[in-house]
Amino acid sequence: MATVRSFDAGPARVHLLDDGVFVTDAGNLFGGSKKARIKGAMRPILVETGENLVLLDAGFGPELPEILVGRYELKRTENLMDHLKEAGYAAGDVTHVVLSHLDADHVGWALEPPSFPDATVYVQRAALEEARKMPEGDGRREAVPAVEKGVEEGWCELLEGDGEIVPGVRVEVRSGHSEGHQVVWIGAGDDLALYTADLAPARIWLNPDLIAGVDTDPEAARRNRIEVLTEAENKNAPVILYHEPGGPVVRVKGSENGFEAVAIED
Ligand SMILES: [Zn+2]
Repeated sequence: MATVRSFDAGPARVHLLDDGVFVTDAGNLFGGSKKARIKGAMRPILVETGENLVLLDAGFGPELPEILVGRYELKRTENLMDHLKEAGYAAGDVTHVVLSHLDADHVGWALEPPSFPDATVYVQRAALEEARKMPEGDGRREAVPAVEKGVEEGWCELLEGDGEIVPGVRVEVRSGHSEGHQVVWIGAGDDLALYTADLAPARIWLNPDLIAGVDTDPEAARRNRIEVLTEAENKNAPVILYHEPGGPVVRVKGSENGFEAVAIED
């Protein structure tokens, strides 16, 4: 059984969950036809704060979505729900789910199928609107019917920008990777941790000049990455990297390539 790593950010307890690892051609992330294989973890975050249990992003879901079969390979022995249980919780304990954006590797267990019966799922309206305009077969567009159903049934709420989900969990819109892409500040006062989602999803992306072929607005992604990581450095906030296959929690420090990761001792 894997152990779930946890740390504190102010009054919040942060648990690093795990929904396995995907392997894909680098070209699927960077654009072009790079043949190298690249590996990404999926580390949804569970934040325990007061009476609330908030999940940040939700992995691929029970299996690899059909649209990605052949392009992505999913490897895991345990999934997000197993890790939730190992952290000491049941699906019904989750009160809020924040989706950074609507890509398939972030929304799975929240939407396909909805796996948290007592949770409200939060999506930025701008992310939904962008997803509606994506071409048929695009992962973001595939999420639209589930989000619309959730809004209709009352378990999904559309956000209009920055705001507090519950005390200790604040979302901030930092677009670029997608429209309405949101990062999350966890904690209070000076004792904060930052969940960057796909604005800076792994250590290699701490370099602001590295642009993903899949970013909707590369210039916004670059600008937002610099601003957010500068703020994390100034606040000495641990940064949680959703797709980092190595240690997913780092501190960041300005360097000649933008930022470098500084390991955090356990
Ligand atoms: Zn992603």
